[in-house]
Amino acid sequence: ISTSRRYDTQIHRRVTRTVNVGGVLIGSDHPVRVQSMINEDTLDVEGATAGIRRLHEIGCEIARLTVPSLGHAKAVGEICKRLKQTYQPVPLVADVHHNGMKIALEVAKHVDKVRINPGLFVFDKADPNRTEFSSEEIASIRERIAENFEPLVTLLKQQDKALRIGVNHGSLAERMLFAYGDTPLGMVESAMEFVRICDALDFHNIVISMKASRAPVMLAAYRLMADTMDQEGFNYPLHLGVTEAGDGDYGRIKSTAGIATLLAEGLGDTIRVSLTEAPEKEIPVCYSILQSLGLRKTMVEYISCPSCGRTLFNLEEVVQKVRDSTSHLVGLDIAVMGCIVNGPGEMADADYGYVGKGPGVISLYRGRDEIRKVSESEGVDALIQLIKDDGRWVDPP
Ligand code: SF4
Repeated sequence: ISTSRRYDTQIHRRVTRTVNVGGVLIGSDHPVRVQSMINEDTLDVEGATAGIRRLHEIGCEIARLTVPSLGHAKAVGEICKRLKQTYQPVPLVADVHHNGMKIALEVAKHVDKVRINPGLFVFDKADPNRTEFSSEEIASIRERIAENFEPLVTLLKQQDKALRIGVNHGSLAERMLFAYGDTPLGMVESAMEFVRICDALDFHNIVISMKASRAPVMLAAYRLMADTMDQEGFNYPLHLGVTEAGDGDYGRIKSTAGIATLLAEGLGDTIRVSLTEAPEKEIPVCYSILQSLGLRKTMVEYISCPSCGRTLFNLEEVVQKVRDSTSHLVGLDIAVMGCIVNGPGEMADADYGYVGKGPGVISLYRGRDEIRKVSESEGVDALIQLIKDDGRWVDPP
């Protein structure tokens, strides 16, 4: 981030080209997109269709599914058909690994984006006796990769579909490990081999990811990837994630540490929070990250103090009541503060404020202006009335 921009209160996103994934546009001119992946077996067409639908209904904008065989690729065709017949088309991404070119070619007919892992799309199988790759061997491997990869790139280009070059820290090709170790540089070089092939074929509907299970590794890899692309004149969007982040609070915090740090630096155009939980649980975390950084506003922003010895009412209870009554008023900022000492100053940016004024008395604010005082028992209703009087109320759905 440039020095002058470090002190801005707005995040300046890295400028990227726009990538179209089934009508959902990704890149710096568009909102940071939320993705997830179903955990049903793709061969279970009914279950997978329901899983995609569940994810979409909760706000997942692009859904991914795994395609480990040709049979799975054909099942994806059936899933797409069912989605179109019974629900609505949802942008789908097929995850293809392990030299799965035939699979990729089949599934590319059905989905909007194909994800390949450069580390598993290789011709240098692990050999315990090998200690190095000569430059001739590397050149020949690259030639064969380009030859093998070209039909997929051509198909994606013809059908105006997208490609994710999705590097994983834990599955780099052996030649990369010899040259760079399992380092961010090795990850970046793995992606760049494929970026250059696509560029030579004039295909640019590409998104890049650099996932690792350790946040510092993914941070370094994404930063280096962005810098390398800048140096070589590429401006592809980035899909962010901390892979295998775990579950519960720690999984969420670890994902946030990686994803939010990069977003705050302006890097990242789509995100996934990978949790060892039902995929639906990932979506609210994604939206909370984006809202907390001011990148998307998809819920009411509540500002409430932690409470202390000065608190004049049961703060947790009141916050919950306010939330229950107003959580559908997306776009508003509502503050609930325990006392007048720090309250009004701290909540100055909120649209409305509910502040403890004295024992049993609440002050209601519109912005920085104190509008009226009411008894504590009427406080929440009076706040709702104030919002209604201002014409900013809508009935809950
Ligand atoms: Fe304590 Fe008042 Fe600050 Fe809340 S706003 S933490 S009650 S001083």
